[in-house]
Order: sequence, then C-alpha cells, then structure tokens
Amino acid sequence: MSASPKITPMLQQYLEIKEQYPGTILFYRMGDFYEMFFEDAVVAAKVLGITLTSRSHKDEANKIPMCGVPFHAVSGYLGKMVKAGYRVAICEQVEDPKEAKGIVRREVIRVVTPGVTTDDQLLDEKADCYVCALVVQKKSTKEHLAGLALLDISTGRFQICEVSFSPKDPGALVDVFSRLRPAELLIPQAELDTLAPLTHLLSQQMGQLCLTARPDFHFETVTAIATLTEHFRTANLAGFGCDAYTAAIDAAGALLLYLRETQKSELAHVKRIMPLHQSGYLIIDDASRRNLELTETLVGGQRQGSLLATLDRTATPMGARLLRRWLLFPLQDRKEILRRLDGVEELIEQPAVRNTLRSLLDSIYDLERLSSRLVLGHGNARDLSAIKTSLAQLPDLHHQLNGCTSSLLRAIAERFDILDDLHRLIDSAIRDDAPITLREGNLIREDYNAELDHLLRLLRDGKQMILDLEHAERQRSGIAKLKVGYNKVFGYYFEISRSQTQELPEYFIRKQTLVNAERFITPELKELENAIVTAHDRRLELEYALFLDIREHLVQNDHRLLQVAAQLAELDVLACFAEVATRYRYCRPQINTNRTITISEGRHPVIERSMDPGRFVPNDVHLDQERHELLIITGPNMAGKSTVLRQTALIVLMAHIGCFVPAESADLCIVDRIFTRVGAMDDLRRGQSTFMVEMNETANILNNATEDSLVILDEIGRGTSTYDGLAIAWAVAEELAHKNGLGIKTLFATHYHELTDLAATSDKIQNYSIAVKEWNDSIIFLHKLVKGATNRSYGIQVAALAGVPEHVITRAYTILKNIEQGEFTLQGQPKIAAGKSGKKQNPMQLPLFSPATHPLTDLLRTINPDLLTPKQALDFIYQAVELMKKNEE
Ligand code: ADP
Ligand code: MG
Repeated sequence: MSASPKITPMLQQYLEIKEQYPGTILFYRMGDFYEMFFEDAVVAAKVLGITLTSRSHKDEANKIPMCGVPFHAVSGYLGKMVKAGYRVAICEQVEDPKEAKGIVRREVIRVVTPGVTTDDQLLDEKADCYVCALVVQKKSTKEHLAGLALLDISTGRFQICEVSFSPKDPGALVDVFSRLRPAELLIPQAELDTLAPLTHLLSQQMGQLCLTARPDFHFETVTAIATLTEHFRTANLAGFGCDAYTAAIDAAGALLLYLRETQKSELAHVKRIMPLHQSGYLIIDDASRRNLELTETLVGGQRQGSLLATLDRTATPMGARLLRRWLLFPLQDRKEILRRLDGVEELIEQPAVRNTLRSLLDSIYDLERLSSRLVLGHGNARDLSAIKTSLAQLPDLHHQLNGCTSSLLRAIAERFDILDDLHRLIDSAIRDDAPITLREGNLIREDYNAELDHLLRLLRDGKQMILDLEHAERQRSGIAKLKVGYNKVFGYYFEISRSQTQELPEYFIRKQTLVNAERFITPELKELENAIVTAHDRRLELEYALFLDIREHLVQNDHRLLQVAAQLAELDVLACFAEVATRYRYCRPQINTNRTITISEGRHPVIERSMDPGRFVPNDVHLDQERHELLIITGPNMAGKSTVLRQTALIVLMAHIGCFVPAESADLCIVDRIFTRVGAMDDLRRGQSTFMVEMNETANILNNATEDSLVILDEIGRGTSTYDGLAIAWAVAEELAHKNGLGIKTLFATHYHELTDLAATSDKIQNYSIAVKEWNDSIIFLHKLVKGATNRSYGIQVAALAGVPEHVITRAYTILKNIEQGEFTLQGQPKIAAGKSGKKQNPMQLPLFSPATHPLTDLLRTINPDLLTPKQALDFIYQAVELMKKNEE
C-alpha cells in the first residue's frame, strides 16, 4: 500500500498487529464492533455477506476499505469465516478506553482456525476436530517417512504416528488422514512446493483441508524436544512411549508451538502425548471404508444412511465421538473384543440398569470439551452449570454400575469418581440464572461469600440501612426530630434544628449551618454511604474474582473430570450397543481361532432398517480355508449380490468393535484386514477413471491381503471391455483362492457367467447365486443366496421389468441365442477357460475390444477348396492340426 501521510495512530497500531499475524483475517475490536480493513475487509465482506464501506471519505485517493461485525454476534461470523477455510485473529482492547492515554492498547487474544477451535458453533459434537502437523523425511527415492502429530484442542487429545510410504503411492498416508480427517494441516514453509503434490492429493481426499505453512525452525528436532519436554515438564519423552519416534516428534513440536501462538494459553489440558498405534487394529483402507459406508454414504457423503448413524444411539457427545473412534479403529485382540461383548451382554440382560444408565447419561453434557474450555480460560458460568448438572448424575450412575459383574463394567465402577466435592462447590457458588458474561455480576449465589452477601444487602437495602441509622441516632441522641438528608455537595447528612444541637454526641461533625437548622455527618454515616456508593463496582469485581477462583479450582481438578468423561464415554457406547442389539435383534458373535466365518441368517444392518420389519431376506454365508475359500456369487442385477457381500463385511467389522451383529448366529474369526472393491462407480471426487481406480484397488488387495484377510469383490473388471475385464477378474480370483498356498477368504460377485467355470478348476472355489423365480416371462427377486451357479443372467427379463419395449426384448432373445451357441469351443470347453490355470502357461492374449479370432480361421480364409489338389488338401490338414496344437499350449 502507498505510504500515505494520513495513517492515523489507530491505523498504525492496526498495521503493526496485522503484521504479526500473517495469513489471518484480523478482527480488530473498536467499541462494540470488530472491524476489518484493507484486503481483509474485501474478503470478509464477501464471505460474510456484509456491506463493504470505507474509511476517510474526504480524500478519495486514500479510501480504506472496511467492514465490521457487532461484537455480540461475533461467534456466528467467526464460524462462517472459519468454515470457509480462513484463519481469524481476534484482537481485543486490553485496557479500559476511559483510562487509556492516547490510543487504547490492543492485543490478539487468540487465533481461530479450521483446525483450532473450541467454539461450540464450529465443532461437530460427534466428531474429533484435529489440527495436524506433517514432516516428511526422504529415506530413499522409494521410501519416505511421514511424521504426523494430531491434536484436538477441544479435548486435549494429542497423538503422533509415523507412516512409511512410497512417493509414488502415498496410500498408507492417505489412509491415516482419511481416518482422522484433520481440518488443518501444518507443514514447513520450505516444503510448500515439494509437498504440493501430496497436499493436493490430501485436500482432494478430505474435501476441505486448510493448509498452513509454518516457519521451518519450528520443525527442527532440538526445538521440538525442548518445546515438548518443557510443556510436559519431563526430561525426555520415553515415559509417553514416544522415544522411538523422530519425524513425528518434530511435527509434535511444531504443532505445540502453533497452538501456543493461536491460543495464547499454556494448554494445560494437553497432558500427554500418545503414540497412535497403526498396528493392533483391523485395517480397513480408505476405499473400503467409503465403499462400506461406515461413517458416511458413498453418494452425497451423508451421515444418515451410514453404519455409524444406524448404530449411534449414544446419549452423550463423548460417547458419540468414542463410537466413531471404535468404528474407525476396530480391535484385533480377541480378549479385548470379548471384554466389550461381555459388557454389552450384561447391559442387554439387565434392561432396567441399561435404561436407568441411559437416562442418566442423557442429562450429561460434553464434559471433555467443557473442561477444555475452562483450561483455556473460555469457560463461563453456564459452562459451570452444565458441568454441575452432569456431575449431579454421577452418584446414581455409580450406584447402578456397582451391581454390574462383567469385567469392563466392574473396572469402570471401581475407578469411578463421583466428584461430589466439585459438584458441591459449583452448586453452592454458581447461580442457575447466571449470564454468559463474566463482568456483569449475577454469577455467584448468596451465602457463598460473606463480603458478597454484605454488598448485595447494601445494594438492595441501602436506603433502608440509612433510615435505620437515622432511627438509631434518634434513639442515641434523644432528638426525635433528627432527620437524614442528601445533597450533591457532601452526600448524606443529619439535619437537626439549631435549638437542639448542644445535646449532640461529640462524633457529630458540623458541616453546614442554615437559618433554622444545622447539618452534621458522622463517621458511621459516611462509611455506610461510601459502602453503598461503591457496592456496585465492588460487587462486580468480587463476583468476577470468585468466579475465577472456582474455575481455577476446577482446572486444577480437570484430570478427574477427564477421567470420568472417558469412563462415561465407554459406558455410553456399551449401553448404545446393548440398546441397538435389543431393538434390532442382533446376536452375540462367537469369536473363533480357526479362520472360518459362519453367519447364519445374516442381515444388512443399514438396508434392513430402511425396510418394513420382516421384509429383509436373511442369508447364510460360510467361508473356510478348505472348500470355501472363495465364493463366486452370480445373479441378475438387483438380485442382492452387493447387499450380501457388504453385510458380510459389516457383520465381521461390527464384531471387531465389540458390537452384537444382525444375524441369528455368527461364528467369526479375527481378521487383519477387510478389503472391498464395490461397484464400478466413477470416483469423480478424485478425478480418476473408473478403470484406473478399480485396478489400483485391486492391486492393493493382491499385494496386501493375507490368509487372515477378508476380501469383498463386487463386479471387478466392469470398467473395461468385456474380455479384458473377464480375463482380469478370472486371474484375480485364481490368485486370491490360492495366494501363498493358503488362499484368502473372498466373496466375489460377478455378472460374468464364465467365471462360474472357475469352480470346476479349484476345490477351494464354490459357486453361489441369488435365487430368482421365473414367472411367465418375468422374474421375481427372492434375495436368497443359494448353492450353485445360475445358468442364466436374466438380463433381458430385468430389461423387460425396466420397461424396454416388447419387440426389442424379443429381438434380444434371438441375439442371445446366437451368441450362446458360440460360447463353447469345438472340444466342448468354455472358450474363456481354454487355457487351464497353472503356472507354466503363457497368459492368454486377449485383444482389447473384440473376441480373438482363431488363427485357424485366418488360415481357412486363404484357401479355395475348389482349386486344391488332393496333395495340397492333405498338406493343409497337417498344417491346420499343427496350428491348432500350437495354439492350445
Ligand atoms: P445387485 O448387487 O445384485 O445388483 P443389490 O445388492 O444392489 O443387487 O440389491 C438391490 C436391491 O434389492 C437393494 O437395494 C434392496 O432394496 C434389495 N435387496 C437386496 N438384498 C435384499 C434382501 N436380502 N432382502 C430384501 N431386499 C433386498
Ligand atoms: Mg451390485
């Protein structure tokens, strides 16, 4: 901007502050408004939909764009800015304008960013909100190490992890991001360009990811270790199990520095740093998580319609967040799973206990976020009241828990702190009708503090107290006509007629003589007067101080609050699982160790909810390592193939989070990964072609699946021409059934009928189909999975059902017949299966878009039988047989 001579001291101050907070929109407090100037004003006016005006009207050339929002409505505007991906620095007046000499001192008191907010209006109460710092170390051209640190400021949860990835395929890193979904990503300034491809990919995956460049030295190891050990007041980080980390520690240091800067707080609620273990959990890659619609739907990204929404009957936000975490990090430890299942089972069997617990939990607020607000110095009296209401439920909760016998519930009961001291404190001190403001009084109850009670009495009864004193002085002096009065010059006084003044006690001080009367003051009168006059201000001051004391006391005890919050969350989820199981008739899964999956009468937890009771057709699925490694499932479109596949994956997953499952019975093994490739939907969000996406995911499965994995393949190969697709599907199925000699449990739905021939080539592969009933020329979907392949695709019947005109349908039947007649080779072999499976053989070459013509045909075309001599004919037959043999190898 041009160096204008018109820069006022106020603007000077504005510019100085603005310079300290680059990359933020500065909300600059002026009286009852937050004002924005220059470029900030232009941006904010647009984002917030408010009028852009300008300062310094007289001189057109020096016009400064500005806009403002009223302070009492700031939170809504702040929300809009942050949701639009901006960082906002909030600059307050830090001294009383009345006392300021010259310009009022102002300071930025905090910076709100998409990843760093404690504002209820900005937070999704059912999900964690992380800011993440990332450091990438290049180990070699093929291997990079990503160090990540993640912190949710609203709860103080601080985690680190490290992920190795290849720069060509950062899938492993993307996976962590898509699970934790940070709202903001910090990277070193110097890496902005080198990391651009990666950050670009991540923002595409995340939908919206606010990228923040930070000074490089913040990411240095020395800085990081110093910052962290100083914060945690420890000599090193070994006690947190973090000493083996390098890149992640660098990231954690930078993250903490960022938070200190934005929060202007000691972050006392960030009490430890936890390694986020990548192992020990059932891994579900990003694509599968989306395909299975665990937390949001595939189309539209809605929570409604996801597994999470179906299962979420939690009563508290802490519970809702924990449920989400459990769903994204399913357990692998059999004992842990059984412990959760035991807890759920107990709550199912004790409906009275469950109902009482759930209704008590219903009255509990977000203790985690409330206590973080206190620590960060934002908590107001209403927050304290919310804590009080929550704590009031704890004794009854504890009482209910005491009767429980399962190990998880017992463990919660035994370590349960009912926090009655904190409850009593808030209850005795904080008024139920307290306002959100802290400096306007009405916070503290009577009977809590003697001085405050006195002040309140003065305010309420001040006049009467003066009259009482008048009465007392009359009695003492015996002058019945002694009268209290007031004027501006010396305030309250006693007026006495001149004839009576000689009888006055000596503490009466003469102030004024009138014609008939004299006016006196007494020390007691002046004291009382002074108390009344100052009572108002003193009261506000005292209430504020008392409030801060109480808040500080809670802050000192916040580890206790957080511990209870964590236990309540766990209890909430267990009760939620019990409730869901009861309501929707789920069964307790058995967890076996013999690598088999047996589900009887399984249902799809989400789809069954969208249907009338009893309409969903349950299905049995059995997988084992001997004869049921890979099931080929055929059936016409709309028969229910995808549904049976997904429900199997969901049932297995649900068991791993300790939830009962939608089935009559289920005997399941622990799986290490669930892979799915579902549907051939264009992945528009990532802008890749369907086929490329499909093949990426297929490659991922083939490379990473083990004998403990569960693979769901739904119509792979659909994204390319028929023969290519079929060839790939075939080869993939073969590989899965036999990988490493053990095979991988796979459900493979396909519309390629040719694939049913696979069963004939391997003991481990079985054919299944979804039954349909033919009825006249039409079909009825039975949605029942049955043994054996369908011999028909019913595509034409489906087309007829869909309203394709009758003469087109008739013609289609004719064409189908022609095609079917050409389906086998002369030897009666299915054409596609011609090259028997086995290692030594060359893969069959298939042209891109049309069936291969046999070389024999080409040869035949070259001759005219009418012109051949007998010798030539015989030679030709030899040649032809030779060619055929060669071709069959
Ligand atoms: P496919 O993959 O074979 O084309 P889907 O699994 O997508 O078929 O199922 C199509 C529709 O059929 C579903 O949206 C659902 O409405 C219904 N459906 C599927 N399975 C069942 C079932 N077991 N019971 C009742 N309806 C079902
Ligand atoms: Mg389908």
